[in-house]
Amino acid sequence: MSTQAISTAASLAPFAGAGRLTDSHGRAITDLRVSVTDRCNYRCIYCRTGNDGAQYSELPLADYLRIIRIFVSLGIEKVRLTGGEPLLRRDLTTLIREVAQLRTGYAADGTPLEAGEGQPGRLDIAITTNGHLLAAQAHSLRDAGLSRVTVSMDAVNPDVFARITRVPGSYERVLGGVRAAQAAGLGPVKVNCVLLRGFNDDQIVPFVHFARSEGVILRFIEFMPLEEDRIWSADTVIGYDELKARISAVRPLVPLPGNTPGETAQRFTFDDGLGEIGIIAPVSRAFCGACSRIRLTSDGKIRTCLFSQMDHDLYGVMKRGGSDDDLATYIRGVVAQKEARHHIGEPGFLKPSRSMVHIGG
Ligand code: SAM
Repeated sequence: MSTQAISTAASLAPFAGAGRLTDSHGRAITDLRVSVTDRCNYRCIYCRTGNDGAQYSELPLADYLRIIRIFVSLGIEKVRLTGGEPLLRRDLTTLIREVAQLRTGYAADGTPLEAGEGQPGRLDIAITTNGHLLAAQAHSLRDAGLSRVTVSMDAVNPDVFARITRVPGSYERVLGGVRAAQAAGLGPVKVNCVLLRGFNDDQIVPFVHFARSEGVILRFIEFMPLEEDRIWSADTVIGYDELKARISAVRPLVPLPGNTPGETAQRFTFDDGLGEIGIIAPVSRAFCGACSRIRLTSDGKIRTCLFSQMDHDLYGVMKRGGSDDDLATYIRGVVAQKEARHHIGEPGFLKPSRSMVHIGG
């Protein structure tokens, strides 16, 4: 992506209807997740099918930038770049450098989004990556303005790790990526671990020791029915109470301040103050009431919930020549339709129309 292409996309007209994005349930939408590709170099068993031959689709990075700018002018404060595997996109650092120039709290015409608001803030820019290509890119990502990195790691035993990713030698690569990110000043790195009963739940205790010794923030995430291979069942999920009890076997857990019932992760440290562990329990303790997220798929569609049955074709509006104002109006209309909550585990639950690798996690 050339700098010129980005600059051209960056010139925005003022938008009508300043004010933060709010859905019809009164939730402020401040957190945008952008999938910059649906290609991935791993085939994690809880996400993708082992077969190849999928159809991939991704937009020019300049188009994601234009969309991100519009979202930011509507009140987005956090942008997470994900995929697929975001580090497979060449020029990702160029996109991050441009996104890092954006400021929060003001519409494109300079109108404050809320009356009496202070100075424009710095956007929080994060990526979620499998870490395979991170060691080589950590410094340049940091220099471009990346705030934080989350690395997905589902085991600390190399054999279990490779069984999950279906890529030999992947554990060593990812560990190298985590350490390089810490050394590049992107620490503390957050490590996400999805647990599947009977597959990697023997990793809970070793993972806690790993997190404490490596100085990373650990998040255990409940397995959600978002996988291509349809292996999810309620039995495969390690629920919040069981997981908390199993972590406590290492040392007594101490809740960290700031935990609220609707927060995504319930955060803890240990009685010796060393380490931070979070439990993200969208299945056993859904936090939809506090959801502030909106997602853009790699093919430019808006998803209002991971479990939506449909997407909204924002890129279609753009391709038909929609102005920035048209796109902003479209976004507001879609956000208004955001679902109140998901229905995992309830009778009649329908698995979503797309799997996580296509939605962007
Ligand atoms: N390739 C990147 C990575 O591995 O982090 C980004 C994309 S990945 C789809 C984003 C996140 O979704 C990862 O942390 C992954 O563990 C999580 N994920 C994928 N499928 C999931 C599922 N069925 N349940 C819970 N989390 C899932």
